[in-house]
Amino acid sequence: MPTPRPGTLHVIATPIGNRDDISARAVATLRAVAVVAAEDTRHTRPLLQHLGIDTPLVALHDHNERTAVDGLVERMRNGDDVGLVSDAGTPLISDPGFRLVRAARQAGLKVSPVPGASAVVAALSVAGLPSDRFVFEGFLPAKGGARKARLAELAGEARTLIFYESSHRILECLEDMRDVFGADREAVVARELTKLFETVLGAPLGELVGTVAGDANQQKGEFVVMVAGREAGEDEKLAEGLRVFGILKEELPPAKAAKLAAAITGAARKALYGA
Ligand code: SAM
Repeated sequence: MPTPRPGTLHVIATPIGNRDDISARAVATLRAVAVVAAEDTRHTRPLLQHLGIDTPLVALHDHNERTAVDGLVERMRNGDDVGLVSDAGTPLISDPGFRLVRAARQAGLKVSPVPGASAVVAALSVAGLPSDRFVFEGFLPAKGGARKARLAELAGEARTLIFYESSHRILECLEDMRDVFGADREAVVARELTKLFETVLGAPLGELVGTVAGDANQQKGEFVVMVAGREAGEDEKLAEGLRVFGILKEELPPAKAAKLAAAITGAARKALYGA
């Protein structure tokens, strides 16, 4: 029997809220493939039904990705085209799919994107923060200590910072950002993009914490938090703070040295301590 032409893995973006945000090519591809690997089949089935598509679904999530990958790669080797979707937006962007894409590429199979919505790009496009260079950090650690440590590592970053956040932690997250980056650092919270209660709030972090804390509705839904990068002035303060910290820590415990260096130079204490 002749060897079949190998199938392609199509990585397909789906909407992040508004169901109309799906491309004509995504619909055609979802209809044409032999099987759709979905993060949660219960979530994707209604979308396919809404689109009038009856392509079979298989589950591919963080807990079964290792084992499910082999079967899907084998199917593609035998000629089946496979679609990959996540619950919302672009697969692999803070979503499952990495192992499948990697395995397919390593097997020499074609992996082709069907691009569309992703919350990170949608949010940046309306934030009004510098967008020529940005850093996507995905979700911050859930625990306070680890979260602050990660933020401290980022305090000197000059590019716009972008984070995903859930309703459970949005307020804590903004408070930690204010504490680590300083109350004056400009930030934008994009909530429920493309949905009924879409809001985009921009203000210095100190003010933003007050607005979100004072309105329970602003703590509901899905969020992208964007923080302006460190400005040149802060740059110099941090450099001077690090220099002073370096001297003081020869004689003092690091926490005390960071506190004093921050008071002397105006640099953020957490940034010094983190660095
Ligand atoms: N793969 C998705 C993408 O391409 O954006 C992201 C999936 S991640 C598990 C879900 C997170 O993305 C949410 O917690 C939120 O931070 C962000 N997000 C997704 N949809 C959003 C929306 N409509 N508005 C604001 N943030 C959203």
